Formats: sequence, structure tokens, C-alpha cells
Amino acid sequence: MDMDQLLAEVADDVRPSLGTGRVADYIPALARVPPNQFGMAIACLDGQHAAIGDAQTPFSIQSISKVFTLAMVLKAQGPRVWDRVGREPSGTPFNSIVQLEHEAGIPRNPLINAGAIVVTDHLIGNRTADQTVDNVTAFMQARSGSADVSVDREVAQSESDTGSRNRSLAHFMAAFSNLKNPVEQVLSAYFRQCALALTCEQLAQAGLFLANGGRDPRTDEQVITAEQCRRINAVMLTCGHYDGSGDFAFRVGFPGKSGVGGGILAVVPRQAAIAVWSPRLNRSGTSWTGSQALERLAARTGWSVFG
Ligand code: GLU
Repeated sequence: MDMDQLLAEVADDVRPSLGTGRVADYIPALARVPPNQFGMAIACLDGQHAAIGDAQTPFSIQSISKVFTLAMVLKAQGPRVWDRVGREPSGTPFNSIVQLEHEAGIPRNPLINAGAIVVTDHLIGNRTADQTVDNVTAFMQARSGSADVSVDREVAQSESDTGSRNRSLAHFMAAFSNLKNPVEQVLSAYFRQCALALTCEQLAQAGLFLANGGRDPRTDEQVITAEQCRRINAVMLTCGHYDGSGDFAFRVGFPGKSGVGGGILAVVPRQAAIAVWSPRLNRSGTSWTGSQALERLAARTGWSVFG
């Protein structure tokens, strides 16, 4: 299959949808991003790669970072994190607080905000937020093969300035003793991991280990175990798009994780990692055109984890 041609066809398919959806405006720095951009990159396990559109423009990966911090926590500390966070789809928006009270401060899964905040707290352990952010940044640089991956300080500050909702989630979990470090320390790391800026090309490379049983095919490093990799992909498939996760699995058919910056990282086990970016979002906070593009790519390739 010619990957350049595949992406050109997908880009043609989705061009009419580029004006649909709304950018995330609850983080003011994200509301300022020109909304009609579209980029897509694919990295295949056989070494083929291709990109189209704005695939070299860095964007805020936001919640896509949650997949990488989960991988880092599992790698460093094994399955203990599952004592503090579940792995069921929430069926609620990304920043919902309703289930936390019923479920005694244990978030449903690590890809909703509450769950990701717990994962970041676990990752911090006895370190400082700065050290943890340095580690996450270094991990993203290593996985993407790009030294210029960094945190966009303006986006991180903008989210912190308007972060009452995430502070509420964190304080609520602290009240149930499910946060070990002070709320502001954990959120300072969480806001910065969300503000990491990558291009589609870098993000597709960074996701390759998830398509390859946990082994980075570029460096040959076993980043996480094959079992951990399967579990992360399972959680992405069932929980990667909040209350739109079922629809994404139905339409696209392989694991993905959205971010409110308009990026999606998708993983086709044993085939490829795909990053797509277009800032306008659907009601679940997933890129409108990005999810359309992945649906078209799945239709054109026949790739699916469902056979
Ligand atoms: N940083 C965002 C928040 O916590 C992440 C949400 C997302 O990307 O889905 O609100």
C-alpha cells in the first residue's frame, strides 16, 4: 500500500468537514489556534512513513499525554497503580466529578482527567513536579526521536489560570486519600504534561511502541512489556474518547486517544501508529475532522482490531 497516496485520499475525503466542530475555548490559549488546520502522519512498523497537510506544525497534545504517563507508571512501578484507578469506561465527560463520590474517590479509568491526575501523582512519587515533567519530556523526546519536543509554557499557564474544574477533582480525590502529593504539585505536573507540543510526525513516531508489543522499533528498546502494551491499548479502545469511546470504537475500530488540542493518536497493533490533528472538536472533545479521517483510513485499509 502506498502510504502517501492513502493519506492524500483520506485528506480529500475529509476536506468538506473542516469547518465543523468547535475549538476548546475553556483553555484560552487553545481558543487562539487557527481552527481549520489539518495534519496527519502515519508511521508503519515496516519503516514506511508518510505525512500530509499541517503534519509539521506542533500542537498541544493535551490528554494524549495520559497514554504516555500511564506507560511510564506501569514501566516504573508495575500494576500497583490499578489499586488507585479503575479501567471501566465512564460514559461521562472528560472532567466529570459525579462518579467520584459514588466510587469513593477512585476514578473510573486513567484516561479521564481524574484518573490521569492520579496517574501523575503516582508517577511523581517522592520527586518534585519539575523532575517529573523533565522525565515525561525526555520520554516523549526518546519515543519521537526528536530533541525539540517541549512543554508550551503559555498553554500550561493558561490551563492553570482556568483550572478550577481539575482542582476540584484533585481536592475531591485528596479528601478520599487517593492523592499522595499536594494538589498544586500534582496539577503543576499534569498541566505541563498536557501542554507538551508535538507535530503529527513526531506523535506518530512516539506511538509506534504501542503498535509493536511495547518495543520501540526505531531504537529496539523494550519500553514496556507486551502485556502492559495490550492493556494500554485495551484502555485506549474502551476509554480513549470519554463519552464518545463506544462511537469511536464502532466507527474506527482500533485504539485511539483524543486531546482537546484536536490531536488523536491511533494505534493499529502490528501495523502502524497514526497521528491526526485538526482543532475543531465534537461534543465529546475529540477532533471532528480527525476522527472522520481515521474512520476513512480504517475503511480504505480494512484495518480493525475486530477482524
Ligand atoms: N488538559 C485538559 C484538561 O484537563 C485535557 C482534556 C483533554 O485533552 O481531553 O481539561
